[in-house]
Amino acid sequence: IKNLGGLLGVSATDIIKNLMKKGKIANINQEIDYDTAAQIAEDFDILVEMEEEKDLMEEAFGEIVDNEKDLVERPPVVVVMGHVDHGKTSLLDAIRSTHVTAKEAGGITQHIGAYSVSISGKKITFLDTPGHEAFTAMRMRGAQVTDIAILVVAADDGVMPQTIEAINHAKAANVQIIVAMNKIDKVGANPDRVKQELSEHGLIVEEWGGDTICVPVSAIKKEGLDTLLEMVLLVSEMGDLKANPNRKARGTIIEAQLDKGRGPVATVLVQSGTLQVGDPIVAGASYGRIRAMVDDKGRIVKKAGPSTPVEILGLSEVPTAGDMFYVANNDKQARQVAERIKAQGRVQMMGQTPQKVSLDDLFTQ
Ligand code: GDP
Ligand code: MG
Repeated sequence: IKNLGGLLGVSATDIIKNLMKKGKIANINQEIDYDTAAQIAEDFDILVEMEEEKDLMEEAFGEIVDNEKDLVERPPVVVVMGHVDHGKTSLLDAIRSTHVTAKEAGGITQHIGAYSVSISGKKITFLDTPGHEAFTAMRMRGAQVTDIAILVVAADDGVMPQTIEAINHAKAANVQIIVAMNKIDKVGANPDRVKQELSEHGLIVEEWGGDTICVPVSAIKKEGLDTLLEMVLLVSEMGDLKANPNRKARGTIIEAQLDKGRGPVATVLVQSGTLQVGDPIVAGASYGRIRAMVDDKGRIVKKAGPSTPVEILGLSEVPTAGDMFYVANNDKQARQVAERIKAQGRVQMMGQTPQKVSLDDLFTQ
């Protein structure tokens, strides 16, 4: 009450009187919850806002400041978007099956929500959730995860509502678009019509004098995939994507679930630094020390550098997809930050009715 008085510029006595009017007896050192505080503030014509979760993290871990000389090239992170049935899943499957070598995979590929492929000795990281889901969950939390969006457009169907939505979302997120003109094997394929329709939405293909790369592919026949991946690398090189591998890791939770035997399991994308087994980490209200890490090929690993997706074990609870994770200085800091975020979350749940937000709101805010 005393602190609130200080913040609001009213005396503690006035706050106590205010509470008494509502039938609550309180003293100057009493702790009150956010709801009550917000109500009191309103009575004094002051609007209070909840400190955002991100601020707590920022307060604890700060912004990344790297010297140019410490930065090294990192693989691009790619998401596949497009209208339903245009072939997003088929394309992701085709790329995974043709570009994850048998030696690497040991015959099987793990589905951990993201995977990396190698082409011409370089790596590309794909988010394995097609469509808006992955992208939206990330963006909802303010995380900028992806560098490049592959926009899948079926050559026999052309630009459709979700194609346009995807274009808008990628643009709003400042993500480079590469068009994969899919299903070119089909009889009804009409690439020129698709290019025309794309131009109506601001994507002018290179052969028409624009700067949109458009690669004809067939996910089913596995044609054009190498060219598509080469183009991804080209765009990524132009983007000069870099990160400092020699710092405490931070990144984003891609997906998470509770595993019966292993406890909370999360797939994370390291965005800066190198994540290591034994690191104390915090992701929202979840925290813990990394007990084990498994890569997208099912191999046990000890380290994961920038743009690497990896599955981690050792968290106290299941984190939320889209949450940032941070390596803390020690176990204690990780726990304290998580506890503060948890406390804040509880207050937020009591104090606010959840608002329904549409996809487009998220991308235009
Ligand atoms: P998504 O909804 O965008 O994930 O699309 P899917 O990958 O599920 O594909 C939708 C349908 O299109 C499936 O029946 C696929 O077999 C088919 N399909 C996908 N890619 C191709 C392609 O390159 N050629 C042909 N002929 N069919 C395709
Ligand atoms: Mg699909």
